[in-house]
Amino acid sequence: MKFVVMENDGIGPEIMAATLPVLRRLNDALGLGIELQHCLGGLKAWEQIGETVPQATRDACDAADGVIVGPVGTYEYPDEARQATNPNRFMRTHFDLFANVRPAKTRPGVPARVDHMDLVIVRENTEGFYADRNMFQGSGEFMPTEDVALSVRKITRQGSERIARHAFQTAQERRKKVCMVHKANVLKMTDGLFRDTVAVVGREFPGVELEELIVDAATAHLVRRPEDFDVIVTTNAFGDILSDLCSELSGSLGLAGSINAGAGQVMAQAQHGSAPDIAGQGKSNPTALLLSTGMLLEELGRRTSRNDLAQAAGKLYAAVDGVLADPVNHTPDLGGGNTTDGFGRAVLGALDLD
Ligand code: NAD
Repeated sequence: MKFVVMENDGIGPEIMAATLPVLRRLNDALGLGIELQHCLGGLKAWEQIGETVPQATRDACDAADGVIVGPVGTYEYPDEARQATNPNRFMRTHFDLFANVRPAKTRPGVPARVDHMDLVIVRENTEGFYADRNMFQGSGEFMPTEDVALSVRKITRQGSERIARHAFQTAQERRKKVCMVHKANVLKMTDGLFRDTVAVVGREFPGVELEELIVDAATAHLVRRPEDFDVIVTTNAFGDILSDLCSELSGSLGLAGSINAGAGQVMAQAQHGSAPDIAGQGKSNPTALLLSTGMLLEELGRRTSRNDLAQAAGKLYAAVDGVLADPVNHTPDLGGGNTTDGFGRAVLGALDLD
């Protein structure tokens, strides 16, 4: 089994350096047969060869069984590099990674802003407002005059159906509740289509309860009664925003793992961005990328019916939880003084490989 690894930008190299030794140790101890192939991507690739997703990286991703990537900080790129392909756009459109799965949960020993939360946001990942990836050709954003800027938001029945199905299937393996979040009171056609489609798919899952919330109210309900939510299904931008809210309510954006899943490829990538404010200082929390890597193993285990991959994911999650349970291990985002590297070493030491 081959995984492509791309560090990308900002804190990418440091969280990757804390994560990969844990994966390698699991690979060796459990004989998983995973081969890691490091590829260039992001600003470093731009500086070295003038492309943000070099052809060699694209080819390696095509041949890989899974991909682990760091965050992409295009907002900080120089102007010419900003015009180049956004590596996130490339991965999500090239592999049609339509489901961005973003869990958030409170954990023993981790200071949180709410008492209890254990939910998963299933975010549609290829449509919505994302102008650089929601069109077949051209951009979803354009300026008819220098004083007018327009953005097209795309919602399709097919896109809504497949994300809804992913959400209901996820809920079936959890507490059997789906909450769809939309703005159909105002966006009557686009979110109306999303709402109606999710409701129709819901009829295929009679054992799963379906509720709905308008997105602005959803933010209030998530703060007021976070323990009630199991799976949230929503469109692209709403999912992006709500998942940052939920991960921060559960303790920190640095805890927020995620996978981007399509029919043929799965990419592990933390929910957060490149965090330029702390990059290179050893202050970042690698938990999000560690958990993303666990989610990749778990998802590939499910797809290939390989119990050893599921077992490796379970060991990774247990080690991370064990380390987080002791505040002495916490990085600054959780109020502690540990370093990125120190946290990674603690997780390595906490792996139960007997
Ligand atoms: P961000 O997520 O990078 O940072 C928001 C805040 O959270 C910052 O204070 C940061 O220090 C903190 N933070 C993030 N990850 C952390 C971690 N692992 N440990 C501790 N603290 C952490 O959001 P931003 O500052 O708005 O964006 C920076 C860049 O990242 C932008 O270029 C943006 O476009 C990009 N971005 C990329 C992705 C992605 O690649 N998936 C996602 C979001 C933002």
